[in-house]
Amino acid sequence: MNKIAVVGAGISGLSIANYLEKHQLDYHIYERRKKDDLTGHGFLLPKEGIDYLSQIIEPSVLFKHGNFLKKYIRYSHNGKILAQKDLNDVFVISRSALIHILAHNIPAEKISYEETVMPCPIQKGKLRKQDGTYIDSDVTIVSDGSKSRIRREIFQEETMKTVQENEIVNIIKCKDIAASLEDNFMKYHHEDGGLTFGILKLSEDTVLWYCQFDNKKYKISETSSVESLKSHMFEIFKDWDPMVSSIVKGSNYENVHLWRVYELEKLNPFYKDNTVFIGDAAHPLIPFTSQGVTSALKDSFVLTQYLASEKNSSDAFRKYEAERKPEIEIHIRNGRILLDQFLKPLDQQTENILPISYK
Ligand SMILES: Cc1cc2nc3c(=O)[nH]c(=O)nc-3n(C[C@H](O)[C@H](O)[C@H](O)COP(=O)(O)OP(=O)(O)OC[C@H]3O[C@@H](n4cnc5c(N)ncnc54)[C@H](O)[C@@H]3O)c2cc1C
Repeated sequence: MNKIAVVGAGISGLSIANYLEKHQLDYHIYERRKKDDLTGHGFLLPKEGIDYLSQIIEPSVLFKHGNFLKKYIRYSHNGKILAQKDLNDVFVISRSALIHILAHNIPAEKISYEETVMPCPIQKGKLRKQDGTYIDSDVTIVSDGSKSRIRREIFQEETMKTVQENEIVNIIKCKDIAASLEDNFMKYHHEDGGLTFGILKLSEDTVLWYCQFDNKKYKISETSSVESLKSHMFEIFKDWDPMVSSIVKGSNYENVHLWRVYELEKLNPFYKDNTVFIGDAAHPLIPFTSQGVTSALKDSFVLTQYLASEKNSSDAFRKYEAERKPEIEIHIRNGRILLDQFLKPLDQQTENILPISYK
């Protein structure tokens, strides 16, 4: 029997596995995707996130795979600079690079890929694998993402609602654009509100761009095929500053992705019996906060500390929730404020607002 079963090998599952490894606690991770299926785009990591990562990853390895941003520049949609702010230790890295680095430290026998874990319909509180066998563990750490099936099964009264904002994200290869961005995080805003375009350099030849849009104003087809996302982008950004419209027109759309954003109307408890939730499975955060990854890392760190120091898991879970929930509630509140700002016309928005939620 494995003492601790971890469900999901995203950032939270892999980071807690790294911490458990460090504390020599026995665990096994179950992940439904294939080992090399590393989709996703990129994350902004404020200093706190880098500090937590540096405890489990060699900083020089981390820094080789991403980029530090020096300045945030806020533009109007026609290219006028509205505000600028120096950034201290804000790091950007692709999701695939970070997952790859975190997975590197996990011994192969402690992780099973292509293994979907489901709640057992008959025996409440038990989890089972695809072959029908139960997972027999003292503690289950659930890190299966924002739409966690296990969470929905345990907390059946929860309500998830769609957020009035969606994102289209893309990663492109282009040395010239990467060089022209220097280390700036550039974000363009439509004067009527509800539409932005952000650009960041991931490496010397890789750029991440994303568009945030009010999904009531800018309706998108249900199919969200590459072609429909491309024409959506062409249409809404055709008259923007040439920096934006040329990137939108000149991009390869092979990696494009539409994020539909959801949030929990009310947070659930972070644990029930022998099951504890971390990362998006415990608390989906809207992208405006830029805190999804840092919060996942912090959950992993705090929970592992208590699992290692407390005599029983229920004390560890209680202390973990008491420490983490108040901070998450702040990020949820900040996220709603940032969303509210985003939906307003530009002249009613607070100036110099950073697209990151700080406690
Ligand atoms: C494919 C993907 C791409 C993403 N891309 C971005 C991005 O570009 N930018 C950004 O800011 N955020 C992105 N995110 C969200 C971001 O990763 C999270 O907000 C944050 O890192 C917290 O991660 P998490 O580990 O809690 O959840 P997630 O990253 O969602 O990871 C959950 C993991 O659990 C696995 N899983 C789900 N159900 C089961 C099951 N029943 N059994 C076993 N395994 C299961 C999933 O395959 C996944 O690997 C992405 C998430 C995913 C899943």
